[in-house]
Amino acid sequence: MRMSKLFARTLREAPAEAEIASHQLLLRAAYIRKVMAGAYTWLPLGWRTLRKVEQVVREEMNASEAQEIRMPIILPAEPWKVTGRWQTYGDLMFKLRDRHDRELGLGPTHEEVVTPLVAGEYTSYRDLPVTLYQVEWKYRDEFRPRFGLLRGREFLMKDAYSFDRDEQGMRASYDVMFEAYKRIFDRCGLRYRIVEADPGEIGGGVNHEFMALADVGEDEFVYCENCDYAADLEAATAKAPEPAPTSELEPLTQVLTPDSSSIEAVSNLLRRPASEMLKCMIYDAGGDTVAVLIPGDREVNEEKVARAMWPAPVRALTDEDFVKRGLVKGYVGPQGLPEDVTIIGDHSVRAGKNWVTGANKTDYHVSGANADRDFRVDRWEDVVQVREGDACPMCGGTLVLSRGIVLGHTYQLGARYSKPLKATFVDEDGTEQPFQMGCYGIGVDRIVAAAAEQFNDDGGLTWPKALAPYQAVVIPTNMDQPAVVETAERLYAELERGAEAMLDDRELTAGVKFADADLIGYPVQIVVGKRGIESGSVDLKLRATVERSSALIGEAAEAAIALLESAP
Ligand SMILES: [Zn+2]
Repeated sequence: MRMSKLFARTLREAPAEAEIASHQLLLRAAYIRKVMAGAYTWLPLGWRTLRKVEQVVREEMNASEAQEIRMPIILPAEPWKVTGRWQTYGDLMFKLRDRHDRELGLGPTHEEVVTPLVAGEYTSYRDLPVTLYQVEWKYRDEFRPRFGLLRGREFLMKDAYSFDRDEQGMRASYDVMFEAYKRIFDRCGLRYRIVEADPGEIGGGVNHEFMALADVGEDEFVYCENCDYAADLEAATAKAPEPAPTSELEPLTQVLTPDSSSIEAVSNLLRRPASEMLKCMIYDAGGDTVAVLIPGDREVNEEKVARAMWPAPVRALTDEDFVKRGLVKGYVGPQGLPEDVTIIGDHSVRAGKNWVTGANKTDYHVSGANADRDFRVDRWEDVVQVREGDACPMCGGTLVLSRGIVLGHTYQLGARYSKPLKATFVDEDGTEQPFQMGCYGIGVDRIVAAAAEQFNDDGGLTWPKALAPYQAVVIPTNMDQPAVVETAERLYAELERGAEAMLDDRELTAGVKFADADLIGYPVQIVVGKRGIESGSVDLKLRATVERSSALIGEAAEAAIALLESAP
């Protein structure tokens, strides 16, 4: 390709609305252009990179015996109503009506389409397993689209769905996809972590997120410095600390703490750290009262509380609830709570003693409160929010808090969709069974954004070679020198035989061409200049490391390809 013909006008400055590096650079380097908030046109450079990611994804899906299909973007509402997702997706789903007043939606995902599809074609256990996938544009009516491709209203997804006759088969299909995902992200050159994710739907199965490390990532997760353990904050656990020795227990003493209904106020008043306070949080679980105990310097993870009480729905108490249950808001302590209150203690509470906690009386706390002696704990559970510095549950190493961009999600669904949609097959024993399903998503355009986030420097994009739109650029510096132009043309023709090459044949200054080459991020640059020609050589630059070298003109194409092979 020739730069003089390429439909690409780079920008010196990014538009002010572009807040993060990937958004700024993809706009500046002429990869994408905004049509409206959350919707972009892919320009030739961006489209090539996007297609490369797509190709990697397709190759690995096909190598895993997943079969490609294509489902429509526009979908009927009915199956979504059957699974309940018409409701739960709410305003996030684009909903419309056709001229006959039928309700339709734009697909954010396709379980409601693929499940009836397979049920209509496959009726026997002998047909299974099967995994289908598509690469398709999907839609979500984001309240506030931002961050360029990271929170758009239109996005390109690869979504795959596996169908098995039993759970064992589902897990085997899941493992095949899991391995394919690793190969995909490895081939794209991304730095990522595989994170154990919150099952979301309580009682749901195993699921993992593939998270690109990025400070701008919208998801927080922890990983172990020492081993492979990583989990999102909803799912993360830490190793329980050692229980405190039961010696030197102080007597339970009532203390006057006027107007001190918060941990902070009591801590200031008594001059004791928040970690010595016992927080007693009260929840309603399906009409029953639950008290959750954690140290005062920590936060409750309400997803964990919900899991501990499942299937009862858990909610925080209203002021009215406190009054109705005879509890003094801001001064609740576990001692003396009625028998019908379920008291859950976080494991970390075992590691402390002589707690300061509410006295169940306005303006009073107690000190010297100890588990078993002064209050009972019905269940010891993990209900605390993990934080940086906690111990890894696997190896005891230190957990680090990090941010990431979710690139992929794999999920063991079981019969979550096949049951309500009555998608069944006849098993060996003649019984009707729902398909055991898995679903597997990859944000194809998100990979482009995440890579742009991970691979850039002051000059612009520094793509891994698998993702760069062109692998090498030939830059003639003096377009008015016939020898320079001729050499560049010849080199470009040679290079095209072994690499995807670009020739910057524009009548522009060398400075502008260098800046554009850096900005666009060709992994290898070959500079043909007047002085070099005189000495019979050209200059080479590896974009990722900015290493420079030179090569004889006759060997330049070969040297550029060797350099490309060494590129990350
Ligand atoms: Zn570890």
